[in-house]
Amino acid sequence: MGARFDDTAALDMRFHMPTYARKPVMFVRGEGMRLYDDDGREYLDFTAGIGVVNLGHAHPAVADAVHKQMRTLVHVSNLFYVEHRDELAERLVGLFGGGAKVFFANSGAEANEGAIKLARRWGKARRGPECTRIISAERSFHGRTLATLAATGQASKQEAFEPLPSGFMHVPLNDIDALAAQMDERVCAVLLEPIQGEGGVFACDEAYLAAVRELCDERGALLILDEVQTGFFRTGSAFAWQGYGVRPDIMTLAKAMANGLPIGAVVALDEVAAAFEPGDHGSTFGGGPVVCAGALATIDALESERLGENAIEVGACLRARLSAFGEESGEIVEVRGRGLMTGVTLARPIAAEVASHALTCGVVMLTVGDSILRLLPPLVCSAAEVDTLLKTLSAALRSS
Ligand SMILES: *Cc1c(COP(=O)(O)O)cnc(C)c1O
Repeated sequence: MGARFDDTAALDMRFHMPTYARKPVMFVRGEGMRLYDDDGREYLDFTAGIGVVNLGHAHPAVADAVHKQMRTLVHVSNLFYVEHRDELAERLVGLFGGGAKVFFANSGAEANEGAIKLARRWGKARRGPECTRIISAERSFHGRTLATLAATGQASKQEAFEPLPSGFMHVPLNDIDALAAQMDERVCAVLLEPIQGEGGVFACDEAYLAAVRELCDERGALLILDEVQTGFFRTGSAFAWQGYGVRPDIMTLAKAMANGLPIGAVVALDEVAAAFEPGDHGSTFGGGPVVCAGALATIDALESERLGENAIEVGACLRARLSAFGEESGEIVEVRGRGLMTGVTLARPIAAEVASHALTCGVVMLTVGDSILRLLPPLVCSAAEVDTLLKTLSAALRSS
């Protein structure tokens, strides 16, 4: 490690609240799939900043758009009209398939908070004062604010912060009977990740998501899909629900939306969005012209570089190679995912060791619990880079 790492780590320990267990690396530069540390060492990034830099690091088109807007107008608030905000909203509604409206937030948790408020506002207005419950899935992840933490189906993350807002219930994923049993007139919405990300890459079955859609329609509840991690071509299509053919009433977005700048959004069908009135919800920073310019440039580049197609192709290659390696080595129990969102369950509880060994060999990856590796590379990932990953992973497993 370089001198800058030592100084930075010391300051970090002294001045930051101890909420993160950081890895012993300081990154100072990035380009596409590659990161560089303070010693100039190169790494292949299979995390994309946790599913954020889908275009790869330091994409020039986003940098140019943001730079230009930074020198023109940075912030005036939502009290006024500005450039780029409406164009971005129109673009998102277009990707959604029309008939919807957008609210801009600054993160995934905030987008989900907005969706929860909208669903309750809609439920009370359309179906009565008791219609406020939200059902989400066990092992889900929807954010760290109090309401999104209540929606998150992981007791270990919640217990220290109780009491949490009430009205949230959890059911096992892919069990339609368990959901149906909870769907009474007090339920205003079902909130699901099409593919659970932080939980370890567990997808909704196709038949399950279609049945959830039907059940929501039948019982008069909204379907909210949290596309914070799966959105923006991560799984091939603009949003994962398009791959399932199940359109939600509300979807939430953030992570990859502006390739690293903080922005989130709630997209809701017109008739649902109409439940909000002026003063019901707001954000000082939301929908500012700089982040909106960045998001537009990001969406343009994701489309023109055909990164959804690359995600499908390279993702399939990645999982095929991991499965083959798993069979021959006996080190892998399961490989799953869609596009460039992949979860790997190891045969031994050594995920942390494997990831830290890989890091010392110049490959960055994520872990979930003791046994799961999560691979979320930028969507520019190539077959040659998959090759390097496999070699590194096999070496890391041999020495762990
Ligand atoms: C990351 C994530 C969030 C939270 O996003 P933040 O920007 O960290 O608040 C919410 N939902 C899902 C599915 C996520 O992956």
